Amino acid sequence: MVNKPGKHKALPQSEHEWRKRLTPEQYRILRERGTEAPFSGTLVQEKRNGVYTCSACDNPLFASDAKFESHTGWPSFDQALPGAVEFKADNSYGMHRTEVVCAECGSHLGHMFDDGPTKTGKRYCLNSVCLEFGENIST
Ligand SMILES: [Zn+2]
Repeated sequence: MVNKPGKHKALPQSEHEWRKRLTPEQYRILRERGTEAPFSGTLVQEKRNGVYTCSACDNPLFASDAKFESHTGWPSFDQALPGAVEFKADNSYGMHRTEVVCAECGSHLGHMFDDGPTKTGKRYCLNSVCLEFGENIST
């Protein structure tokens, strides 16, 4: 994998290195596909203009104009930046869901549903700890 200086952090090469980089809560969600408690995240109410990046690798993921109020308690978006995320089938817990992972580092971000209220029809339901918000970051 090519490291891009100034844009992305160098990616850890092992789960041990991931553990050292991330907080225990971040590790549990990003690397072990956990879910934070609803309304616990700091970005649920974030309304400023900017870009949301992957908290594990700084990959730009979502623009603030894709964010909408879903009243679920998790930050929600109606589309990702082009090529920013990848999708995986998630059949855990007896449900058929679409997992959203960072295209750069493969970390778990949340799930994508087809019941979005905006014109895209998509609802990215993400964990706040998986995202970092930056004002006026250009993609
Ligand atoms: Zn990432």
